[in-house]
Amino acid sequence: MAKQSDEAFNLLVDADAPTEPGVAGMVVLRLPEGSTFSTATEAVEAVLEADHIVATVRIVVGDRLVGATSARYLSTALGIAAHTPDDRRGVGDGDGATLPGASAEFVLLRYRCRRPVCGTQEFRLIHDERQPVMCPVCGETMELTT
Ligand SMILES: [Zn+2]
Repeated sequence: MAKQSDEAFNLLVDADAPTEPGVAGMVVLRLPEGSTFSTATEAVEAVLEADHIVATVRIVVGDRLVGATSARYLSTALGIAAHTPDDRRGVGDGDGATLPGASAEFVLLRYRCRRPVCGTQEFRLIHDERQPVMCPVCGETMELTT
């Protein structure tokens, strides 16, 4: 049973999207406990902007899996245009000049699994140095890449 606070995120969740970690094209978005729907929506948008190969976003609030959403669902249900083929560019190619997904409210942090064959990515809004980020797929530690 989802807690009542999670129901606020129902609009964001695509019931048809896979929720198991490790699906191709899936990234994890981990939001702080108590995040609002609008923050979650902005964060999901930022994730889609930050990485154009993202097909599915697995949304975790605190330690709870809220569900998963997809770029296709967001554009049809919420009118969020994830991206167009024209604005593709080499995100993460190392220029580091601009941070994709930066907004007035938060900075999107991108973690990548240290195991190259895994390559799972997790996005967070808060960096906590006391807590290493563990890959939800393989259990390896993840490193901050942005
Ligand atoms: Zn991994």
